[in-house]
Amino acid sequence: MDVSARAPATAGEGGQLHAFAARLYPICRSITGNGVRQTLALIRARIPLTVHEVRSGTRVFDWEVPPEWNIEDACVMDAHGRRVVDFRQHNLHLVSYSEPLATTLSLQELAPRLHVHPDNPEWIPYRTSYYQRSWGFCMSALAREALGAGQYRVEVKSSLAPGALSYGELIIPGRTREEVLFFTHTCHPSLANDNTSGMSVATALAEWIAREPRRLTYRFVFAPGTIGSLVWLKRNPRVLPRIRHGLVLTLLGDRGALTYKRSRLEDSEIDAIGAHVIAHGGTSIGFSPYGYDERQFCSPGFNLPVGRLTRSVNGGYPEYHSSADDLDLITPDCLAESLEACRNAVRILEDNGRYLNLAPWGEPRLGKHGLYGSVGGRAPGEREHALLWVLNQSDGAHTLLDIAQRSGLSFATVRAAARELEAARLLRPVRAAVTKRTARPRLAGKIGRKS
Ligand code: ZN
Repeated sequence: MDVSARAPATAGEGGQLHAFAARLYPICRSITGNGVRQTLALIRARIPLTVHEVRSGTRVFDWEVPPEWNIEDACVMDAHGRRVVDFRQHNLHLVSYSEPLATTLSLQELAPRLHVHPDNPEWIPYRTSYYQRSWGFCMSALAREALGAGQYRVEVKSSLAPGALSYGELIIPGRTREEVLFFTHTCHPSLANDNTSGMSVATALAEWIAREPRRLTYRFVFAPGTIGSLVWLKRNPRVLPRIRHGLVLTLLGDRGALTYKRSRLEDSEIDAIGAHVIAHGGTSIGFSPYGYDERQFCSPGFNLPVGRLTRSVNGGYPEYHSSADDLDLITPDCLAESLEACRNAVRILEDNGRYLNLAPWGEPRLGKHGLYGSVGGRAPGEREHALLWVLNQSDGAHTLLDIAQRSGLSFATVRAAARELEAARLLRPVRAAVTKRTARPRLAGKIGRKS
């Protein structure tokens, strides 16, 4: 019944999504630095991203672009020179944004700088210290217990210096200037679900959207979490009024069912679409000011109709923010299903609309208009139902998605019926915008003058 039944993911597609996630996985990303540039370069090899560099120290609302962080090597060595905690083995071993350091400490002095996972003794936790100068190492509790008393050499060959924050942006122009925003974060190091899954799905989605002419304009932003979305919002006050729909894409590869998190508006068109595309087995959850970059897009000054698509939610699976969020946690099938949900959202965004029944006094005689029987590919019963539903609900108030929801028919079936009825001159589109609430950021003008 779902639109996905019409266009199942091709067999190799999940494999390709996983393979691209695997290429992104080893890179040591953070909110700035060469790891992000390397990541954007890999994405850019597939889609023509524009890479923006925003200088350290740039003020962004209540925030500031921090110094750029780059890391060459880091380790803790025991008295025999053995690297007992080794960044080269796993980039989660180092607290992200650790300042440069070379010193020798006793285990007792070192202990407060060593972080272990609270629940699983085998996993390395993921820790960051972006906005407070610090340093530290992460390791499994088992490895931590194995450390004997004595002196340890600690070396962090990092740099924290004026540089830039890098983010990538792609605009796929449509026939109208109304925009759909897709945002995914680019700042996590070797974590597969959180965040290579989002980058892989977003890249494939952009490729698919660009393959044919579209009604809407699509904008993809690949940027670090929080500071990246804030930088983008700050730099684009004139774009904001054109953002009619948006989705934050992340956590799209694990075996959990799909989750749609509604925008702060709760009843925007993307909220109806998000709930619809995950309908079979998925969960739609309400807005909360916690999670990923929807927090910024849905802050009251912007209040954009931006929801979030994930599978498990942040913090909602045990491997979250640990070394166990690896390439085995994400599966080709789940990545492919997530991509298909995104494509279904785009299909609905492109074609959703309100119509007016031009013969609303009783049912028109379908046979007289050449609409009875003679259908290829679809069960006649379903098609006939769809024709009757579209005729009945097309009073100018209900969208095709509303009709799909109410009838239980797929959006594709309802849309096909509307096209047939339009061709038979029993239906005409209503020109008014579909969007129930057109979000116009209240502060957009002010922001523009300040920047
Ligand atoms: Zn995260």
